[in-house]
Amino acid sequence: PYTGPSAAEILSKRKEYLSPSMFYFYNKPLNIVDGRMQYLFDEKGRRYLDAFGGIATVCCGHCHPDVVNAIVDQTKRLQHSTILYLNRAIADFAEALANKLPGNLKVVFFTNSGTEANELAMMMARLYTGCHDIISLRNAYHGNAAGTMGATAQSNWKFNVIQSGVHHAINPDPYRGVFGSEGEKYAKDVQDLIQFGTSGNIAGFISEATQASPSIFIPSFQLFIIYGVGGIVELAPGYLPAAYSTIKKAGGLCIADEVQAGFARTGSHFWGFENHGVVPDIVTMAKGIGNGIPLGAVVTTPEIAEVLTRRSYFNTFGGNPVCTAAGLAVLKVIEKEKLQDNAFVVGSYLKERLTALKDKYDLIGDVRGRGLMLGVELVTDHELKTPAKLETLHVMDQMKEIGVLVGKGGFYGNVFRITPPLCFSMEDADFLVDAMDYTMSKM
Ligand code: PMP
Repeated sequence: PYTGPSAAEILSKRKEYLSPSMFYFYNKPLNIVDGRMQYLFDEKGRRYLDAFGGIATVCCGHCHPDVVNAIVDQTKRLQHSTILYLNRAIADFAEALANKLPGNLKVVFFTNSGTEANELAMMMARLYTGCHDIISLRNAYHGNAAGTMGATAQSNWKFNVIQSGVHHAINPDPYRGVFGSEGEKYAKDVQDLIQFGTSGNIAGFISEATQASPSIFIPSFQLFIIYGVGGIVELAPGYLPAAYSTIKKAGGLCIADEVQAGFARTGSHFWGFENHGVVPDIVTMAKGIGNGIPLGAVVTTPEIAEVLTRRSYFNTFGGNPVCTAAGLAVLKVIEKEKLQDNAFVVGSYLKERLTALKDKYDLIGDVRGRGLMLGVELVTDHELKTPAKLETLHVMDQMKEIGVLVGKGGFYGNVFRITPPLCFSMEDADFLVDAMDYTMSKM
């Protein structure tokens, strides 16, 4: 049994000693003390079905024994930075990772986070092309350092500091976007941005394949109300191929941010971009890559990777043996447990059941996503698509009481984000939908 401090004590320490920018879910935040596959346990031992997976960071399952063993074994042997000496862990994982990518995407650089990976990718595109301008999508989240905050396109995530050279293209959002599902029409905006906002040549384009974008939170010292960006927006079909072709014509490189959509999450493919039939020049990843361990990576072609040899460049902890041992174990688990197939089968079933729920409740305006990366948008009026903000908060809170944790996002904070560990089962899918159904039936 848990003998540590209570949730209230931890909360009060957080308030006193941690940054006031930190936020949490629920009016009464949970004190999570254990994790086991798709379940989390609070201080009283109460079990929750985790349908958010720490924002898609947990791909194999919480504390998956194979990943834990790999981490423990490597930690006992050696924890070191990757610079200066050789060690097999980084080389073995780089090889395994490169083998998962198409084309000539064969050179890996490890980082500690998604932000670092995207910063590096954007810098490489700028160095390679000799241009500064980058295009990203409105509503996107790509990180919170100077460059990536520029690529992030939502005022609530953007501090008023210099973020030069990024232009934000119209978000090809099939539900709320002006052109509906006509991807090529949105892509025209990319051409316009290049023509009217740049010299005609650009460094590149960065986007997710399915826009996950984290929720926006009012920090924890304030009232708990969340609003957010993105909300599992599937880019309109045809958008990425058309945008990529426009970018290439302007001399730019295409960067795929696979921080959330990668690592088998979309089910039909290992990488999100594969759903759109495109091959990027640079792929960035984090979150699921280490099943919760701080790890990120940039994968690109040998030709583009060359740019980093112009100066010295290193990352002290990026790709250290402990993290890369975890990464290799994650790839093996995905393979061994057929987690991509599971994401496809369970995700399709879950989406089907959620879609049936949409027919039952007017409150649900849209159900979208692929595999185990799904969004459920709540509206009070289907015609006007009026965001049902308070209803979303209420349902989320009630589902927690039943024992199901879902995420929340969307520009108005009215979208459930469902990104569970990929070991999620059919029974879990049923439990999640039944909990949502029951909660909505009582409203
Ligand atoms: N890209 C995407 C799509 C993300 O969702 C996030 C984080 N939510 C990041 C980049 C940044 O990753 P990190 O928080 O590890 O820096």
